Amino acid sequence: MFIRALVWSFLVLSACTPSRKPDAGHYNLADFGTIEKYDTHVHLNTTDPSLVQQAEADNVRLLTINVEAPGYPTVEEQETLARAQVQAAPQRVAYATTFTVRNWNQADWQQQTLQYLQESFAQGAIAVKIWKNIGIELKDNEGKYVMIDNPRIEPIFRFLAEKKMPVIGHQGEPKDCWMPLAEMTVKNNRYYYQKHPQYHMYLHPEAPSYEQHIQARDQVLARHPDLSFTGAHLGSLEWSVAELGKRLDKYPNLTVDMAARMAHFQLQAKTDWQAVYGFFIKYQDRLIYATDIAVFANHEAATVKKRAHDTWLRDWRFLVTGDLMQAPAVEGAFKALHLPRGVVDKIYRKNAVRAFPGIAGTKSKPGIKK
Ligand SMILES: [Zn+2]
Repeated sequence: MFIRALVWSFLVLSACTPSRKPDAGHYNLADFGTIEKYDTHVHLNTTDPSLVQQAEADNVRLLTINVEAPGYPTVEEQETLARAQVQAAPQRVAYATTFTVRNWNQADWQQQTLQYLQESFAQGAIAVKIWKNIGIELKDNEGKYVMIDNPRIEPIFRFLAEKKMPVIGHQGEPKDCWMPLAEMTVKNNRYYYQKHPQYHMYLHPEAPSYEQHIQARDQVLARHPDLSFTGAHLGSLEWSVAELGKRLDKYPNLTVDMAARMAHFQLQAKTDWQAVYGFFIKYQDRLIYATDIAVFANHEAATVKKRAHDTWLRDWRFLVTGDLMQAPAVEGAFKALHLPRGVVDKIYRKNAVRAFPGIAGTKSKPGIKK
């Protein structure tokens, strides 16, 4: 009887501390450094090697993404920086190009853009980013907002589908963007829109609505079923795993990255952990780990390294362990997801390698056949 009670209490105790006992089905916190990982959404706006060095130390490979963002070097300068980073560490870094829309209102914008992209692919770009400036900022000659489903962009999408070149699309913004600062759901959004009021759409009611951005993006997905499309930032459907799941069901060519949106999973885990866990299990082939870490020439090496390591380790803890934990962007504690190994392998590596042929550390060739 005593022995049975002893065995029973041992079983109960081990069930309560899953991340501390050897467990063939799950990784634990200590596995962080030994498991090969990808972060498919960073911005290396510098030739400084600090982030790449930290990535090497933490067993992470990077996809650096060019965007036409204010405060960033020009897209042409980013192209030069990205190529230098890839050249310095081809096993660690790959890059996604983008194209400018400064010249949108010129008659030969399409021709200029196609030429620019072709040159980028010849120089090693493995994907193309289409940023939120299309939809949120860009206006045509008549002063109308240009959305992603604009007919003038169609030949670009057809070209990319034909070349099997993956697109990373950031359309719209998190839903918080249409709320007053005080009503935003996570702290990182409040901080961002406080700093960037030009993108705080609550202050710009004349601009397209949240729903219009989502519809325009969905239109592109529907028109181009053969286009490999990764929706950056959970496809701007970060606020509900159920809503995001509906889009993933409807558009088989859609995959999403988690860049800068982990807090939204954590927030939902606070109220409905099972829904978030179930979402990861159901869509384990469609989710890609990413952070949105951005590095600039004036950043200090030690700060860059610490921030990256802390972010990668905190996210690993959330996805892999069963700990009760906290994160800077979320109010209060939440339970980590404790995902099975097979799912972790997919979101950290296999899905990235499949979505981005030619990504660093693989032998596959990028989509384009020159
Ligand atoms: Zn980004």
